[in-house]
Amino acid sequence: MEYARELEGLGGIYLVDTNQFGLEGYGAAYIVDAPVAAIVETGLSYSAPRILRALAELGLSPDEVGFILVSHVHLDHAGGAGPLAQACPNATVAAHERGAKHLVKPAYLVKSVRDATGPMFCHYGQAAPIPRERLLELEGGELFSLGEGFQIRAIATPGHAPHHLCFFEQKTRSLFTGDAAGIYWPEADRLLPTTPPPSFDLERSLESVQLLRALKPERLLYTHFGEHDRPAAMLQTYAKLLQDWVEEIRSLRKQLRGDGAVKQALLEEYGPFLEGLYDPQMVEHEITMNAQGVLQYLDRS
Ligand SMILES: [Zn+2]
Repeated sequence: MEYARELEGLGGIYLVDTNQFGLEGYGAAYIVDAPVAAIVETGLSYSAPRILRALAELGLSPDEVGFILVSHVHLDHAGGAGPLAQACPNATVAAHERGAKHLVKPAYLVKSVRDATGPMFCHYGQAAPIPRERLLELEGGELFSLGEGFQIRAIATPGHAPHHLCFFEQKTRSLFTGDAAGIYWPEADRLLPTTPPPSFDLERSLESVQLLRALKPERLLYTHFGEHDRPAAMLQTYAKLLQDWVEEIRSLRKQLRGDGAVKQALLEEYGPFLEGLYDPQMVEHEITMNAQGVLQYLDRS
């Protein structure tokens, strides 16, 4: 199979590389091949055709998709939901109640992405409105029974964004992390913080990571990127990483003059390491966006 990658031992959960920003191994969507099929995470709008091809490889008709679950409405997670909802007529799109309105009317969301991403905005695809009657608003705690024992629980995990959800598949104890557990770079076996504006919140993020640890998942399924089979260690590492990242930016701000200088210092420190992962424009984008989220958080706290 070219598009659907089987995850071993999970009996019907598949990874689809969404080819985010044209990169391999950076964005993932997942398909749960159950009597009621589900798509978890949808990539950017231009990822939808890849997910539809993966369904076809699995012998699943778009009619069989019952649920499209998105962790939050940032476009690299929910941008594909519009075109997938159009292609899958029986699917309900489920998102947190605080984010769902942005899927119905994406104008504000698009503006917020444009503000956060600057020159990278052109890589974020489109946002097609989703009809309100196709949406299910979640608050966390809801259970989706897909058949053959697959049951997915929505877990409210604010911090990266106030409307963030993780999804926990209870039969295989697989946790779809969205952006709540960081960006995992498999080739380097490294975790990176994901702390974008406008609403990153350190305390909420740390509480969410603790909540995820308490679920005792057997594996993490990162949206960025892929599977990891040591969840407790990875979640603990992420909590420490977040605290160190925020502390570093707090202290740079005290030493340096202006937020531009803080970002420049971070770019000099982390840029060379990240160049193996991204092209230089992407490196600058990732570092300055995640720094900006922390700076805005520090302004509020
Ligand atoms: Zn996000």
